[in-house]
Amino acid sequence: VRQLTKATHQQTRAYNQQLVLKTIYDHAPTSRADVARMTGLTRTSVSQLVDESLAAGLVEEVGRGRSSGGKAPILLRVDPDAREIIGLDVGERTFVGALVDLRGHVKQRLELPFTRPSAEEAVELIHRLVTHLRRSAERPILGIGVGTPGLVDTRSGTVHWAVNLDWQELPLGPLLEKRHGLPVSIANDSHAAALAEFMFGSPRKADSMVVIKVGQGVGAGIVLEGRLYQGDGSAAGEIGHVGAADRTLPCRCGSVGCLETVASVRAMLERAAGLARSEPASLLHDPAGALSPAAVADAADRGDETARAVIDEGGRALGAAIAGVMSALDVRRFVLVGTAVGFGERWLAAVRAELTCRALRRLAATTDVQLGRSSQDIVAVGASALLMTRELGLSLAR
Ligand SMILES: [Zn+2]
Repeated sequence: VRQLTKATHQQTRAYNQQLVLKTIYDHAPTSRADVARMTGLTRTSVSQLVDESLAAGLVEEVGRGRSSGGKAPILLRVDPDAREIIGLDVGERTFVGALVDLRGHVKQRLELPFTRPSAEEAVELIHRLVTHLRRSAERPILGIGVGTPGLVDTRSGTVHWAVNLDWQELPLGPLLEKRHGLPVSIANDSHAAALAEFMFGSPRKADSMVVIKVGQGVGAGIVLEGRLYQGDGSAAGEIGHVGAADRTLPCRCGSVGCLETVASVRAMLERAAGLARSEPASLLHDPAGALSPAAVADAADRGDETARAVIDEGGRALGAAIAGVMSALDVRRFVLVGTAVGFGERWLAAVRAELTCRALRRLAATTDVQLGRSSQDIVAVGASALLMTRELGLSLAR
């Protein structure tokens, strides 16, 4: 019984420690008295817990606040430079590694392009990125956050399936923990992007939002009432393989007619290149074979009908999918991220138009669909945010 009590006491203490840290993180600059008021803990406990965080270098005193009669209170905040997190974006074309501070700022980044590595080579590349970033870190490293495409079990750190990297049932989390001796969090790349947008993106108007990442694939990251919603098997938001088109185009998942076969950047650029070949007059004609979303958007701006059709078609297919997500969840804020953002305002307009005619008008009218900040590090930053929220108990809410 005594051991049980001791364990419970330690748990309570750890819980309170995280609660205090989270409260300071969310409400900084704030005072010990305000933290006590907000958490319901006694001022004595708060003072002790704050002292521990000060000693650990996580919290710092930043001057004095306004006096409410007595002595002006000392203000506290979480020192953004107290720790660095290694955030990794295990993309389908390049791997990006970044050192990220506790406010989501990228301090250093490193990018490794590759051409179809084997499963083992891909893991080795990740080890190299981590080793290199660790060497150049200027602060203590809190851990490693990884965002990867595919089906990921966040709890066990297993990548069930990442088609482009040839990974199946890969225990990436445990592998990284073992090699580097650091805590590791792994999430699907769209989930990571959602965390980055929610925690560090544009000012939050609601506690729920859906981030749709459109790049080589299409996936959604869902934040519900301030928490990342990952579903029973960490596969929430896997909308890229829901049937969308006339069921003729083969998808890399083995099915036909998936949303990805019309709405992904890969599909849209392939379609643009194909149409350009058959229509020599098209502005899309690209001898280097390196069409980009921006190039298609530019041609559309200059009146190219082919480019316009490609953008409108991709946007409409995505808008129809968003109508389903919006109606199921009653989330009214959608942010579009990924390389498809390069298709620009015309693409966004097509998404919005289709959403409006595919959902209850009352709901669609109050739904906000926007292009996200176009940071190329969004997945790496989001993956580091996941690690940070877990290790420090920091909330997703600001
Ligand atoms: Zn598919």
